[in-house]
Amino acid sequence: CGIVGYTGPRRAVDIVVEGLRRLEYRGYDSAGVAVVDNGRVALEKKAGKLANLTSVLAEPTSTVGASAATTAIGHTRWATHGGPTDRNAHPHLSADGSIAVIHNGIIENFAVLRAELEDRGVEFRSDTDTETAAHLVAEAYWSLDGQNYGHTSTDAGPGRLAEAMRIVCRRLEGAFTLLVVHRDVPGVVVGARRNSPMVAGRGQGENFLASDVSAFIEYTREAVELGQDQVVEVTADDIVVTDFAGGAAEVRDYHVDWDVSA
Ligand code: GLU
Repeated sequence: CGIVGYTGPRRAVDIVVEGLRRLEYRGYDSAGVAVVDNGRVALEKKAGKLANLTSVLAEPTSTVGASAATTAIGHTRWATHGGPTDRNAHPHLSADGSIAVIHNGIIENFAVLRAELEDRGVEFRSDTDTETAAHLVAEAYWSLDGQNYGHTSTDAGPGRLAEAMRIVCRRLEGAFTLLVVHRDVPGVVVGARRNSPMVAGRGQGENFLASDVSAFIEYTREAVELGQDQVVEVTADDIVVTDFAGGAAEVRDYHVDWDVSA
C-alpha cells in the first residue's frame, strides 16, 4: 500500500503512476489516481495490478489518462474494509464530487461517522472506511465558507483545504495517511498523518508527498520528514506543515543520499 501526491509544472498523472510503480514493492491489491482538471476532479481506479490501471489510462476514452493536469494523487490499496474491487479502490469522491481522497491505514471509528453521514442523507458508493473522510472533508471545506454542503464557491482562499483536513482529522481515530485534492484549488495537495508513514519531497517549482522517498527520488533528493498528527499543505512553491490544531509544526529537512536503482 502506498500514496503519492504531486503538484508542479509537469503532467501529474505520469509522475504519480511512476511513483506508484516505485512503491509496488510494498504490496497492494488495487490502484487508482485522481487529477484536478479544469475545475473538476477526475479519477480512474482498478482492482489488481498497476498494469490494469495503466491500460485503462492508455484508452483513448480516459479523461485522466489524457489529462494535462499538473496536480494529482495516486494510491495502491491493501484492502482492510471492503473487498478488493474497482468500487472500493481509491481515490474516493465526496458526494458532490468536489473532493478526492486516498488513504492508507484504518479509520477505527468509521462506522459511527458513516451512520452520522447517512443520517444526513449522504449516499455511500463503497464499503470502505476511507469514504467517510471524503464526505467529511468536503463538508468541512464548505462549512468554512459559511455555506451549506454542495455550495460551489470558487473562493478557495489559502489554507482552506488544509483547515478542512485539520477539522476532520481531529475526529478520526486509528492510523491513517490521507491525501486530498479539491476541484476549486487545482494547485494544492493536502496530506495528513497519524501513525502511518508520509514524507514530503521538495523540488524546484514542484513538490511531492509519498509513503517513502523512493516514489520521488528520481526528481528530488530534498525530503521533509513529517511528524505524527500533522497536516501538510503542498503547492508548487511551498510545503506548509501544522499540527492538527493548526499550530506551526517542527519539521526536519534532510538530503537523501542513497543510490537509486531501477
Ligand atoms: N482501510 C482502507 C481500505 O480498506 C485503506 C487500506 C490501505 O491501507 O490501503 O480501503
